[in-house]
Amino acid sequence: MDMKQKALGFTVVFFIITLFCGLWGIGVMRGAYVNEIHTVQNIAGRVIADYPETERVFAQALADMDRNSADVGADILSHYGYDEGERIEENVSYIKCVKNLTMTLAFFLTATLTCIFIILYNVDKQREKQEEEIISVLDECLSGDYAYINDLDRMRRFKNPLFADTLIKLGRSFKLKTERLNEERDNTKTLVTDISHQLKTPVSALKACFTLYAEAEKTTDKEEFHARCKLQMNKIETLIAALIQISRLETRMITLSIEKVFLAEILAGAINTVYHKAQKKQISIETVDFENIRLNLDKKWTIEAIANVLDNAIKYSPEASQITINIQKLYNYVRVLIEDDGIGIPKGEETKIFKRFYRINNETVKNQEGNGVGLYLTRKIIEDEGGTIFVRPAVERGSVFCINLPCQ
Ligand code: ADP
Repeated sequence: MDMKQKALGFTVVFFIITLFCGLWGIGVMRGAYVNEIHTVQNIAGRVIADYPETERVFAQALADMDRNSADVGADILSHYGYDEGERIEENVSYIKCVKNLTMTLAFFLTATLTCIFIILYNVDKQREKQEEEIISVLDECLSGDYAYINDLDRMRRFKNPLFADTLIKLGRSFKLKTERLNEERDNTKTLVTDISHQLKTPVSALKACFTLYAEAEKTTDKEEFHARCKLQMNKIETLIAALIQISRLETRMITLSIEKVFLAEILAGAINTVYHKAQKKQISIETVDFENIRLNLDKKWTIEAIANVLDNAIKYSPEASQITINIQKLYNYVRVLIEDDGIGIPKGEETKIFKRFYRINNETVKNQEGNGVGLYLTRKIIEDEGGTIFVRPAVERGSVFCINLPCQ
C-alpha cells in the first residue's frame, strides 16, 4: 500500500469516528432533555392531582414563551436546592455526556496524533529509502556499471516515473559517451602504431641514402645519392601530409561543414585537381550528361574524396586510356560511377582497399607512388557525409568505383 492509499484510509476512519461522536453527542443531549421533561411532568402531575384547579395556571405557564414567572419560580425553588448551576452539575446524563465526550475527544486526538506521526514517519522512511536507491544508482553510473538501465523492476521502485526516466536517460548517455571514448582511444592507439610503422621504412631509407651520400667520393655518385635523398624526402613529405589529414579526421579536429552545392561544381573541382596528371598520361576523363542536382555536402572535402578516386584511376590505368564518369539518380542518393580501363581490383580485395595503409601486393602498384591512405580518406569523408562507397569490376577490364552521395 502506498502513502496515498494509507492517507485515504486514515481519512475515512477519522470521518467515521467523527460521525459516530456527533451522533452519540446528539443522543446524550436528547436524553438530558427528556429527563428534564420527565421532572416537569412529575411536578405538574403531583400539583394538579392534589390541586386540580391549578391545571389552568400550568397551561398558562407552559404557553408563556417569555417565561415571565421564571424569576419567582427560581427564587422559590432555590430554597430546595434546585437552581440552574447546581442542577446541571448534578444531572447524571449531563455528567455522563461530558465524561464520554471528553474521553472520545481524548481518544480521537490521540488517534489523530498517532496517525499523523505514523504517516510522517513512513514518508520520512520512504524518502530515505528513495535517496539511498538514487545514491546507489548514481554510484553505479559513476563506476561505469549501467546494468540498472535494463532493470525495470528496480526502476519501478522509484515513486516518480519522471525521475526514473531521467536516471535511465542519464545512464544511456553516459554509456554511449564511455563507449565512444573507448572507441576513440582504441582508434588513436592503432593510429599511432600505424603512423610510426609507416614512417619507419621511408625514414630508414632516407638515413641509408644520407650515409651513402656522405661516404660517396665520386661526384656522380654524390649526385645520384642526393637525388635519392630528395626522392625519399618527397615521399616522407607526402606521407606526413596524408597522416596529418588522417589524424585530423580521426580525432574530429576537422568537422565537415555541410552546405548546399551543385553536383557539377563537385565534379569540376575533382577533375581540375587531377587534370595535369591525366594529361601527362594522355588519359581522357569523360563525363556523361547528367542532371545538375543540388546536394548537401562539404564541398572542399567531397572534391578531395572524388579526386582521390580519379587520381587512382589515372595511376592504375595504362597511358592513353579513358576514364568515364556516369551519374545515376536514385531515390535518396546520387550515384557517381567512376570507371577506368586499369589493372582492376583482384577478387577478395574489394573491401580491403578502403582500409588504412592497405595496398594491393603487385608490381604495378609497387611501381606507383602511394601509401594506401587515399581510399581510406575517401571512404571516411563520404561516410561522414552519410554516403557510401564500394568498387566492382568493370565489364571488360578495369574497375568501377561507385560513390553514393546523399541528396536530401
Ligand atoms: P595508394 O596511395 O596506394 O593509391 P589508395 O588508398 O588510394 O592508396 O588505394 C589503395 C589501393 O587500392 C591501391 O594501392 C591499389 O592497390 C588499389 N586501387 C585503388 N584504386 C585502384 C584502381 N582504380 N585500379 C586498381 N587498383 C586500385
